[in-house]
Amino acid sequence: MRTKSTKPDTLLAHAGRHPEKNFGVVNPPVYHASTILSQTVAEYEALNRNRFNQVTYGRHGTPTSFAFEEAVATIQGGARAVAFCSGAAACIGSILAYVKTGDNLLMVDSVYSPVRSFCTGFLNRFGVETTFYDPMISGEAIEKLIKPNTRVIYLESPGSLTFEVQDVPAIVAVAKAHGITTMLDNTWGAPMFFKPLALGVDIDIISATKYIVGHSDAMMGIAVCTKESFLPVRNSAADIGNHAAPDDCYLAMRGLRTAGVRMRQHQKQGLALAEYLEARPEVERVMHPGLPSDPGHALWKRDFTGACGLFGVALKRGTPKKAIDAMLDGYTLFGMGASWGGFESLVLPTHPEQLRTTPKWDTGPCLRYHAGLEDIDDLIADLDQGFARLKAAS
Ligand SMILES: *Cc1c(COP(=O)(O)O)cnc(C)c1O
Repeated sequence: MRTKSTKPDTLLAHAGRHPEKNFGVVNPPVYHASTILSQTVAEYEALNRNRFNQVTYGRHGTPTSFAFEEAVATIQGGARAVAFCSGAAACIGSILAYVKTGDNLLMVDSVYSPVRSFCTGFLNRFGVETTFYDPMISGEAIEKLIKPNTRVIYLESPGSLTFEVQDVPAIVAVAKAHGITTMLDNTWGAPMFFKPLALGVDIDIISATKYIVGHSDAMMGIAVCTKESFLPVRNSAADIGNHAAPDDCYLAMRGLRTAGVRMRQHQKQGLALAEYLEARPEVERVMHPGLPSDPGHALWKRDFTGACGLFGVALKRGTPKKAIDAMLDGYTLFGMGASWGGFESLVLPTHPEQLRTTPKWDTGPCLRYHAGLEDIDDLIADLDQGFARLKAAS
């Protein structure tokens, strides 16, 4: 990349590209590789002394995965990045880089639920203790939770399903004062609306399956690191046998190039749907930090430069399940399925009350919407008809 610009759209278009090294081809080529041949013993030995800085073995990276890592590290303001086979693998590989038996981990209570299960199951079996904390916690309050063996504070902002915005600088200041490593799941704000490393976080974790790939057709994760956190995370990825497949890295990089325009449209559509839903009498509250009524709005405005298309809704207490099912079953544009960040609109019934411990979750029945790129009037008409079905079945 020759540009010195730091503007997100320019970086999204140019970062990680080196046409001069590839016959002028605009996009980094896909290299399929396991074996990498050396011409001499001296060359073979030199390669293996330096396995993360050059192409040494397929699992440790190809020119394609290096290009993807360089692109995201540049856009997110990191020193280097580590590509993973999925977002979950990036979360887990980052945690494993820093904890050992006997350690304590402070985990945000609104964490993506498979990471919660990893902590309460896998880590617990290996003698790592997890303390869940309120996502709305203050710096002072989190300091009180720190034990002599607390090694990591893990953040996710906004949180999964409930979208609380965390006071990242306050938490990071406490962590730094105690020599504790911080990592933040930045999937909602990626690739360009939030840059946790600039606020002092040590590892910026992204499920690239969402907006970076952006077309619901590949799985990929990435951990963006500082100079200090790179080697621990890179070694952790190698130790768990992680491999970022070249075709998927290519799809993720192709997605990056158009992410600027897509994200602005997802933001606009998401806000329009959130405002529509907030005005509906069937709705108790909408969980979207971009809404002025949201408890996280001020922190979001301070730390983020935009919002993606994913948000939560709590329906009025006592809304019967059969009525909600009728509303969701009949949508013609909102697909029902896990994951998000593609071009299509989605909806899911969610159950934060079954997961949350601190504080307990207490609202009416919850849904999660993803605003896709369809015509906004069509989307609102689909929601309108859904509320008519809800009413008829109540
Ligand atoms: C989807 C998601 C993940 C996991 O990503 P995968 O690519 O599906 O493994 C992690 N964190 C958050 C916040 C997510 O939404």
